[in-house]
Amino acid sequence: MRVPIIAGNWKMHKTAGEAVDLVRELAGLVAGIRGVEIAVCPPFTVLAAVAEQLQALGGGIALGAQNMYWENEGAFTGEIAPGMLRDTGCRYVILGHSERRQYFGETDTQVNKKVHAALAHGLTPIVCVGERLEEREAGTTEDVVRGQVQGSLAGLTGRQAAGLVVAYEPVWAIGTGRTASASDAQQVNGFIRELLRGMFGEEASRAVRIQYGGSVKPDNAAELMAQPDIDGALVGGASLQAGSFAGIIKNT
Ligand code: PEP
Repeated sequence: MRVPIIAGNWKMHKTAGEAVDLVRELAGLVAGIRGVEIAVCPPFTVLAAVAEQLQALGGGIALGAQNMYWENEGAFTGEIAPGMLRDTGCRYVILGHSERRQYFGETDTQVNKKVHAALAHGLTPIVCVGERLEEREAGTTEDVVRGQVQGSLAGLTGRQAAGLVVAYEPVWAIGTGRTASASDAQQVNGFIRELLRGMFGEEASRAVRIQYGGSVKPDNAAELMAQPDIDGALVGGASLQAGSFAGIIKNT
């Protein structure tokens, strides 16, 4: 059975003080909840402070980053290496988020290099895919998602693929308050699992966790999480407050 994972993508929010307060409050609210993995993905500048706080709280909440570069080290001003994330206590790294693709021109080829580098350093990638509104309206959702999954995950072994987290995030649902219906989300998540089965085999495709992301809130989480191929959520806005993030976790 796959353990669902609820991950909070804090994007470009929170100072160190705010971040530490948030995880402390969150830990209190989710204490005792079993059967769900919880991760927070703060900005780079507060990873160390959050890591220290999470450790002090007992380690029930995992740490992730929002991006990284694929090289080990070198003259890459402004970039962060996978080993640096590991050193800071990260277990997860979000890769290929639609905001990275849209505003910073990230391609599937680059995401693929990052996925390989993350795995080589013992990080679990949360690989984001999803169509834009015009692509959905043109009926090309599956083509777009197929291209992103095949491009981003090229060259992995079945064993590597089995440990991945994939996040299906329709771009039109991110930060808009417009959530995909549970059946639409299930349809694409099921399609992704089928694709993974073709690429990596039955066992890997059954093991990989496929999240849904896009305006997930406490009141829509239960219906989404009840779908057979939705194994958790990647949460943006609602992860910025302990109460709403905990509400999603409770309803998973
Ligand atoms: C996200 O950024 O990954 C996301 C899903 O954001 P939101 O929950 O705010 O739509």
